[in-house]
Amino acid sequence: MDERKDPAPAAGRRPTVAVAGRLSPVQEAWQRYVHHSLHQCVVCRSADGSPCDTAEGLYRAYQETAADAADQLAGRASPQGQ
Ligand SMILES: [Zn+2]
Repeated sequence: MDERKDPAPAAGRRPTVAVAGRLSPVQEAWQRYVHHSLHQCVVCRSADGSPCDTAEGLYRAYQETAADAADQLAGRASPQGQ
């Protein structure tokens, strides 16, 4: 469970949230989660390291978005439903 404790961005590098606007839905969903847990939320950044309900919701949304994207790439999801 050490994955959430990424080090601070290296000097001269902007946080990944700086490029919002030209990202895929999957990237945006991931960034919302990362931004919350690394920058916005005191609970997520606590020594405990347990994600709060908001973080879990954001992570779930990311997983769903990624699954939808994978389905679309695989041609399994059709807007018309067939
Ligand atoms: Zn949180």
